[in-house]
Amino acid sequence: NLSVHDDDDKKAQKSTADVIQGTEEALLEHRTSQHSMLAPFTAGWQMKAGTPLVIERGEGVYVWDNKGNKYLDALAGLWCTALGFSEKRLVAAAEKQLSTLPFYHNFWNRTSQPTLDLASELSKLFTASEMSKVFFCNSGSEANDTQVKLVWYYNNAIGRPNKKKFIARQKSYHGSTLISASLTGLPSLQNGFDLPVSFVLHTDCPHYWRYHLPGESEEDFATRLAENLEKLILKEGPETIAAFIGEPVMGAGGVMPPPATYWAKIQPILKKYDILLIADEVVCAFGRLGTMFGCDYYDIKPDLVTVAKALSSAYVPIAAVLVSQKIFDGIAKLSDGYGAFGHGFTYSGHPVPCAVSLEALKIYKERDICAQVRKIIPPFQDGMRQLAKSPIVGEVRGVGLVLAIEFAANKETCEAYPAKWAVGTHFAGQCAARGMLVRVAGDIIMMSPPLIITPEQIDFVSAQTFTLNLDGQF
Ligand code: PLP
Repeated sequence: NLSVHDDDDKKAQKSTADVIQGTEEALLEHRTSQHSMLAPFTAGWQMKAGTPLVIERGEGVYVWDNKGNKYLDALAGLWCTALGFSEKRLVAAAEKQLSTLPFYHNFWNRTSQPTLDLASELSKLFTASEMSKVFFCNSGSEANDTQVKLVWYYNNAIGRPNKKKFIARQKSYHGSTLISASLTGLPSLQNGFDLPVSFVLHTDCPHYWRYHLPGESEEDFATRLAENLEKLILKEGPETIAAFIGEPVMGAGGVMPPPATYWAKIQPILKKYDILLIADEVVCAFGRLGTMFGCDYYDIKPDLVTVAKALSSAYVPIAAVLVSQKIFDGIAKLSDGYGAFGHGFTYSGHPVPCAVSLEALKIYKERDICAQVRKIIPPFQDGMRQLAKSPIVGEVRGVGLVLAIEFAANKETCEAYPAKWAVGTHFAGQCAARGMLVRVAGDIIMMSPPLIITPEQIDFVSAQTFTLNLDGQF
């Protein structure tokens, strides 16, 4: 038994027929829905007529719906609007680029200046390990698919064609395209899609509270997980494992900061078996932990890095893969041999998102966003920890400006509430009624406010959270 999650996995494996049974009534309801969008991450039962929350405008950390209700967006959209919803400099940068050169591509050695400048800025900004090239994508998912292609290409180039498997972690989130959803360790992104693909293996989720053994310290838990990782590598054959991908702090799967010494113990094992390390910085990068990158916070030295979201403060879609010299050398060699590097998208390095991202990076530096975040972290994290005293709160956890509150039927055994009680959704509804938007995953609500949030606005978030009705009646 290599994984602490085998039981969870079995529970998640229901047949499609089992799942579909009993949904006829819900089907009827959402057939009457008045909107035409097939919404991402929205189940049929959620798509009843008139149910979508239509957000109409934003200012600072606030958004307003089409009925005039105001919310503090405690999730910054989807962990991404780092500079809030009304940063005029980003709008001006987009306007200027749109009116100068609204598009040019980057194929066949043609490009535009903002694209070149952003690549250079990003490779300089990341200092945890040395990055020499930047490949642009449109989303985090696309960037993580690109990571897999680059690693395969590199291993083919250096003559190890069997080294192709990827290791990711249970409960990780890496996106929802075919490959990135396979890397993701959440059954909800795989059920019904015939995923994950077979070259992806999942190792333990580093969530101490839920998975530690009685009496096991954080350090011992990290040691056990590192040993399990090594067992998995040896069982599969180190010569078949290409790379390990991890978020410095697991985000969308439930905000799970790694236990003490985790990254220090994982990295030498990867080195020992010549396995590349990919840091998925899509949530952590650009100040969210009070450091420019999550890798700085945890002393992670990756070979490849994925960034997205706060790169443009989410004003326009863009993502990037940072590539170390070693990987680039391999890619260059093979593409010279083939006569082409056959990978790219029409909008890879689109000049408008590149211009906006350059401006966002300038603002992060000018305002010393990391220092600003570091001031806000203690009141945010320490204040919220008090909620853990409630008998129905299993754990309050987080680091930097990411935080999760996990409700539990039994906080000693970490027993979850019955899924049909939708406890997380219940509390997210209570938060919305109090003028605050949060994210739900099972019994967990999560927050990741814009980095520009003020101490007063943090106080509002904490105060509203403390008024949640925690009597255990759902
Ligand atoms: N990686 C991480 C760590 C993420 O949190 C996300 C999205 O939340 C992604 C990748 C996927 O990014 P996108 O939704 O832009 O495809």
